[in-house]
Amino acid sequence: MTRSIVPDLATSEVWFLTGSQGLYGEETLKQVAEQSKQIADSLAGASDIPVTVVWKPVLTDSDAIRRMALDANSADDVVGVIAWMHTFSPAKMWITGLDLLRKPLLHLHTQANVELPWDTIDMDFMNLNQAAHGDREFGYIQTRLGVARKTVVGHVSNPDVTAKIGTWTRAACGWAATHELKLARFGDNMRYVAVTEGDKTEAELRFGVQVNTWGVNDLVEAVDAASDADVDALVAEYEELYDVSPELRVGADRHESLRYGARIELGLRSFLEAGGFSAFTTSFEDLGGLRQLPGLAVQRLMADGYGFGAEGDWKTAVLVRAAKVMGAGLPGGASLMEDYTYNLVPGEELILGAHMLEVCPSLTKSRPKLEIHALGIGGREDPVRLVFDTDAGPAIVVALSDMRDRFRLVANVVEVVDLPHPLPKLPVARAIWRPQPDFATSAAAWLTAGAAHHTVMSTAVGIEVFEDFAEIARNELVVIDEHTTIREFQRELRWNQAYYRLAQGL
Ligand code: MN
Repeated sequence: MTRSIVPDLATSEVWFLTGSQGLYGEETLKQVAEQSKQIADSLAGASDIPVTVVWKPVLTDSDAIRRMALDANSADDVVGVIAWMHTFSPAKMWITGLDLLRKPLLHLHTQANVELPWDTIDMDFMNLNQAAHGDREFGYIQTRLGVARKTVVGHVSNPDVTAKIGTWTRAACGWAATHELKLARFGDNMRYVAVTEGDKTEAELRFGVQVNTWGVNDLVEAVDAASDADVDALVAEYEELYDVSPELRVGADRHESLRYGARIELGLRSFLEAGGFSAFTTSFEDLGGLRQLPGLAVQRLMADGYGFGAEGDWKTAVLVRAAKVMGAGLPGGASLMEDYTYNLVPGEELILGAHMLEVCPSLTKSRPKLEIHALGIGGREDPVRLVFDTDAGPAIVVALSDMRDRFRLVANVVEVVDLPHPLPKLPVARAIWRPQPDFATSAAAWLTAGAAHHTVMSTAVGIEVFEDFAEIARNELVVIDEHTTIREFQRELRWNQAYYRLAQGL
């Protein structure tokens, strides 16, 4: 049974806009329209562009451009617009429209033909195919107005071009998702913890997220209201999907604990569905009448596309939800992750990431084990949880910190590796990774940036989608990857400190 709340990205639209002007006459504008339709069609047919690309009539004056911007703003299904100046479109015509546009923008610098028609080229051809300077005029006005955008260069038959556009459309869908994100916090922040705190009012302005708190006993009521028949059905589903530990099976000693785990899932799910929430947090210091810290339930809800943060960490829950949407339909997954402990053997440095319980099984294609073990923290009954190893392969970890006057995203490009040794005594889901550019540089850069211990780990999307997301959000993002050196990284942080303060206006 699928209960996924990951949207089908094909239901989101990106409008394809072509700029021109009236000067060219009807015949040329007809050709502009035909050729721009062909470009839009190739984008619509590109397998790496997950959204629906919609061609719009050629824009030739200020009024039409202004109207397009207002229409795009008010259409809920439109997550962004792509603009291309096939001919020359005097850019003052774009000022009002660009100033009004609130949806993400991609500037596609392309042309209809790949090769110059060396033998036949004449002035008519030149007049029709002049994006080389038409787009420069457009680039100028965007920069002059300070318009955030992604610029992609090349012919649409080039897979690099459609890959970049596809990545940006994913970021635009993530942006749309944070703007409809209602996040339920059960309990507050873990006492005395700094980095999981943050300005929820500012976050609603910057990312569109609504973050509010509910008493955990409201959740307990929903948990207690779950019917025995629903619990039976869910337990049967667990038996089908996971290797359930013998002590948890029907008739065994600890079966009641599994039933209570199922009850938590049913209660949480019904609470989240009733409130239209797509992300949530819990706090082990505020469990009210809950008999177990939610482990299995949280893992399964994350696998269905919910954002989650532990210890009241709503910022990471937002990132997990955004990563779920941006990675929709791709192999791999996304999860709350926490840098836990290291292997510091020289030359073999690795990071072991996990959490007390809550790592999302979308990080593996293997069949998780469903187990019960004692948990010192939380002071409740032993919680049930899924245990597995994250599949090896490329991944990113991304954290969000509140720097007082702004939010900072920090991302590290990493490689998840197969366990070099079994971990027979570690009863939680985990990932082991090697960070770029190397362990010492990565960790020093992470600490210097003030990045959090909680992250979203994504094995579905790469760093570029978060770069595009940050550009759309006009939010700081610092990347730790193969090119990072501490000297340059420290400078970047200092420059950013000045830039982001100035960019907010005086
Ligand atoms: Mn934690």
